[in-house]
Amino acid sequence: MIKSKLTTLNNSNRIPKIIAVSKTFKIENILPLIDYGHQDYGENKVQEALEKWTDIKKQKSMINLHLIGKLQTNKVKFALRIFDYIHSLDSEKLAKKIALEQQKQNVKPKIFIQINLGEESQKSGIMKKHLVDFYNFSKGIGLNIIGTMCIPPLDQDSTKFFGEMRELNQSINLTELSMGMSSDYLQALEYNSTYLRIGSNIFGQRF
Ligand SMILES: *Cc1c(COP(=O)(O)O)cnc(C)c1O
Repeated sequence: MIKSKLTTLNNSNRIPKIIAVSKTFKIENILPLIDYGHQDYGENKVQEALEKWTDIKKQKSMINLHLIGKLQTNKVKFALRIFDYIHSLDSEKLAKKIALEQQKQNVKPKIFIQINLGEESQKSGIMKKHLVDFYNFSKGIGLNIIGTMCIPPLDQDSTKFFGEMRELNQSINLTELSMGMSSDYLQALEYNSTYLRIGSNIFGQRF
């Protein structure tokens, strides 16, 4: 199943990466996929990721771990020990903390700016109108920003948000787009998503 998805091209003829979102699942349930050779995994909690992935990452250096959930500044230190990618950069305070900590640890995570496209007050993310300034700020302090990420509002057609994301990304010349989940990854592909975050379609329902 994974393999056939991997050969699906996005609209700009790039093969998107599939992040197997393994949050809540035990490492025993993830191992078959690791043994099969799948490299990219997503978690939304720092503590859970450290417990689950520290040992296995030492054994399998090809694994890329993606933080897809909210990152609190007081967890940055721990997050940078285990995550190769951060999809949820959403404030200047967090950007500064990551800049400081990546220097201390001599690491350089790849980072996506999360955008609050629906302008929903309960959701994290940078507002569209602040994106350019925020991007310049983050780059200026040494962060390796590779793209933007969004979680479209529930119960709405994701398509229009994906279209906006593609335009926003192009407007600041970023190439990576983190969007599309189990319910809407096919639409995300139409809009040039390069990182699909797929959980339940791979591992089954979460409890
Ligand atoms: C849980 C989660 C996913 C995966 O969701 P599925 O619907 O199970 O594919 C993707 N992105 C984020 C940010 C998540 O928290």
